[in-house]
Amino acid sequence: MEQRLEFSEALLKKYDQTGPRYTSYPTAVQFVPALNADVYSNIAQTASQDNPEQPLSLYFHIPFCDTLCYYCGCSKIITRDYSLAIPYIEYIEKEIKLQAPLFGNRLVTQLHLGGGTPTFLDNQQMTSLMQMAKDAFTLDESDQREFSIEIDPRSVDNERIELLANIGFNRLSMGIQDFDPQVQKAVNRIQSKEDTLNVINHAREVGFKSISVDLIYGLPKQQLETFSVTLDSIIGAKPDRVAVYNYAHMPHLFKTQKGIKEVELPNGELKLKLLALTIEKLTNAGYIYIGMDHFSLPEDELSIAQRQGTLHRNFQGYSTQAECDLIGLGLSSIGKVGNSYSQNEKDIESYYSALDKNKLPILRGVELDKDDVMRRHIISELMCHSALTFTEIETMFDINFKEYFKQELLDLETFTEDNLLIISEDGLQITPSGRMLMRNIGMQFDAYLKPGGRKGKKGTYSKLI
Ligand code: SF4
Repeated sequence: MEQRLEFSEALLKKYDQTGPRYTSYPTAVQFVPALNADVYSNIAQTASQDNPEQPLSLYFHIPFCDTLCYYCGCSKIITRDYSLAIPYIEYIEKEIKLQAPLFGNRLVTQLHLGGGTPTFLDNQQMTSLMQMAKDAFTLDESDQREFSIEIDPRSVDNERIELLANIGFNRLSMGIQDFDPQVQKAVNRIQSKEDTLNVINHAREVGFKSISVDLIYGLPKQQLETFSVTLDSIIGAKPDRVAVYNYAHMPHLFKTQKGIKEVELPNGELKLKLLALTIEKLTNAGYIYIGMDHFSLPEDELSIAQRQGTLHRNFQGYSTQAECDLIGLGLSSIGKVGNSYSQNEKDIESYYSALDKNKLPILRGVELDKDDVMRRHIISELMCHSALTFTEIETMFDINFKEYFKQELLDLETFTEDNLLIISEDGLQITPSGRMLMRNIGMQFDAYLKPGGRKGKKGTYSKLI
């Protein structure tokens, strides 16, 4: 398995186009209202009858944040009214009680609390939420479980970290973005380095197995010198995983980004330099490039899974647990059950109103056909392993690869000419310099983006750099 990475500024510039991040295929823009609560219930029950041993993953979305980070493109509700969490937890409980019976006794091996800010909940609410999950589902209690939570270092203390470990979490992730005070002021997220590093250290002391941090390059006021200092501090703290995202300034789509002054944003040249610096520092410190903005230490499970060919990609990004059906709980959350995706209501009144009627709050979704499943598998292989074997796809899906994907193979020639991809008799192999562009290569298999391909809605996606 190829884990090396080569950075080429010229090629990144050449291929700097917009595209999906493929946490799902088809992407959420293809979701339709026809996949409603009744259809979802049938799919879930059939999936559980057909595969009763297949493990489950639970995702809980906590949408509240007490302050606004200007760069944010997430689905969230900004409020300092902490009492809003009380009814929200009650409605999540109703939703759990509607979802759990559809899935029998399947083991929950993966659980994730995301947001928004999950640590908007107080200790008692957090404990109740985990107890509700425990009462309704069979939670894995072994060391193999992946129970993770996104925390905001500004809203947790040592006692909170200990509580999270005691109620079952063994992984955590946190946003850092940049420690530089000027940048933090420009994005309205003041987060001290000391508090953040303390959270990392204390989490490790109380037994968290994996700690992941997020950085963003391309934020206002960012400079090479100051970002270099941030990177050194992060590397010194040795988190198991580092995700480095490109800030996509799209204020027409995300109104909260209007708080960012465009004149303070780094230009394309500087963004490339920030990215190059990040890659250089992380790889020199021993981090492995997993793909799509993600780095992990060589001994981390993601790096090992990639070396062993067992890495997968889902809504939470890269994962070692592919075979799970994912149940999305809470406002706007997305689930993946059988060959379908579904998304909950995005407006809190509609979410509550459906549950008041004892109805699952499903807004929309999509059922995948054979072509979708095959293309999803191909894109996932490229994103996770930088390679695919034609015979594997042919055996799995009963097709002749070179005939079925004749046009795609022609479209990929530009990547072979630039030495980003090798097309052999047996399959595709992304080269070390192509790994930064795996999204562009995967896009060639996206039938919804192809001229003359499948009919679907046009999405608005972020640029590569
Ligand atoms: S970045 Fe996170 S904490 Fe900040 S507003 Fe968005 S969801 Fe809330």
